[in-house]
Amino acid sequence: MEKINQSLNQLNTFSQTKEKPTYQCERCQDTGLVIIDGIGKICPCQKKVVLAQKKQASNMTPKLAEKTFENFSMHYYPAYAFSERYGKTYQQLAETALLSCKNFVSDVKADRYREGLILEGDIGSGKTHLAAAIANELLDAGRTVLFLVVPEFLDEIRSSYQEASDGSEGALMQKAKNVPILILDDLGAHTYTNWTQSKIFTLLNHRLNYNLPTVITTNLSVEEIGEALGERTASRLVELGKFYPLQVEQDIRLTKSLEK
Ligand SMILES: [Zn+2]
Repeated sequence: MEKINQSLNQLNTFSQTKEKPTYQCERCQDTGLVIIDGIGKICPCQKKVVLAQKKQASNMTPKLAEKTFENFSMHYYPAYAFSERYGKTYQQLAETALLSCKNFVSDVKADRYREGLILEGDIGSGKTHLAAAIANELLDAGRTVLFLVVPEFLDEIRSSYQEASDGSEGALMQKAKNVPILILDDLGAHTYTNWTQSKIFTLLNHRLNYNLPTVITTNLSVEEIGEALGERTASRLVELGKFYPLQVEQDIRLTKSLEK
């Protein structure tokens, strides 16, 4: 008897929820459409869904998603430290790089064509922070961004080529070639085979030819890129945009851990 009562209670709760449905979005009752002056319009909740999907597809890790221009700390770039190589203080270099990244974002948002830009600096110099901040700003503005860490990207496309016996290009390479905004993080001095060298050239060449902007972070100078990746890639990089150097006295991650 008690069991029957329990079931009846359950049934009651079911019918109650059926009578009084709760919607995630009360405005459109989860249909995604609202009627304004007799015209069906996409409910604002759907824009959030699309934005969330784009963020999901961007390959940004939770750590990268935290990086903004606001939390890029100038404190690691002292005005007393002078770079002989660039003839500027570390502070001036960082300010120039930050400003160039902000300008890039506003140009892309305003649909002014930009080839891209290159952030150059040692490990822990803050270049990935700035690249991630660019990605986050543009994702928030509803743009489609793909963030790739170069060594991982090369591993992935290599295995996808091996799987495809017909030698066809993998989905990731296709996406990297055609995504509206591409971030290539850590184009470093890895050992490049002729094959990987040619893949990077093909990718950059395609994006330049189709007016698709690319942001690159690297610990190499343009000369060193020429040595590691070949002259033709280096010359495409020069075409792609200016190099913005960042210099710190020691790895920011190390400085942070010492400050704790
Ligand atoms: Zn809605």
